[in-house]
Amino acid sequence: MLMHMTIALVVFLGFLGLCMGSFAGATVWRLRARQLDEDKQANEEVDAAEYKRLQPLLHKKTTEDRSQCLHCHHVLRWYDLLPLGSWLSLGGKCRYCRKSIGNFEPLMEIITAVAFVGSFLLWDFSAAGYFDEVSFGLWLIILVQLIILCAYDTKWFLLPDRIMWPFIAASAVFAGLRIATATDAVGAIYSLAGAVAILSGIYLILHRVSKGQWIGFGDVKLGLGLAFVLGDWLLAFVALFLANVLALAVVLPGMLRGRIGRNSRVPFGPFLIIATVLALFFGSALTSWYLDLFNMSFTTLP
Ligand SMILES: [Zn+2]
Repeated sequence: MLMHMTIALVVFLGFLGLCMGSFAGATVWRLRARQLDEDKQANEEVDAAEYKRLQPLLHKKTTEDRSQCLHCHHVLRWYDLLPLGSWLSLGGKCRYCRKSIGNFEPLMEIITAVAFVGSFLLWDFSAAGYFDEVSFGLWLIILVQLIILCAYDTKWFLLPDRIMWPFIAASAVFAGLRIATATDAVGAIYSLAGAVAILSGIYLILHRVSKGQWIGFGDVKLGLGLAFVLGDWLLAFVALFLANVLALAVVLPGMLRGRIGRNSRVPFGPFLIIATVLALFFGSALTSWYLDLFNMSFTTLP
């Protein structure tokens, strides 16, 4: 009985993830179109071809909020928008102009579905009664926000405020729920303050010292939201450590092969986001394993 329930929920969350991933992909393009429009209004330099390609997303002739092909701007029908299914059945091409749609949309759908299902299987539903279900629902919203931020930062080296502020608000509520259900509320608040200092405070100082050259203010805000998500200073430390390891693992081979130069820009946001998700689910296991290792080496000393 319980097994059937779990399988049913996995299937449901997988499908929900595909749909939310599809929504996240569409949101990324709309945010970009709006960004280009605002940059142009502010007389900043804008890639003319990209502007022309994305503007129709903002100026819709119909009142309906319909998706369209980015090449031929044909309005897509419901059967063109089935998550993953449409992409697979059309071989990754637009039904109307036959141009390649690219891997971005199906990738967003698969990543979101895997993140939803993975979170469900790893979530601790035994901690605080029905609060666990509420936190989990909120976590799914936060995941979608993080996936949008991750994709946008990877593509355009920017963390848009239109997603950032709702993310900070959602993660603040998430942190509040954790404190409300903690056995030691005061300790939880101190630990949260520590997490904020580690993930946001350090970036704030670097941002101030370098006058925005090393670290953008977007990363300071991102760090604040991620600290709310973790709510624990030790996990925040693990996340910061993992983010640097991940960044090094990606950047170093690129530098050695000469694909990433001294002046290349590498967004740090995605590494911090991925590291935070890893720390949330595996951070405690990682730290206790590490501390065990540490104890062991002490006890085996003569
Ligand atoms: Zn097309």
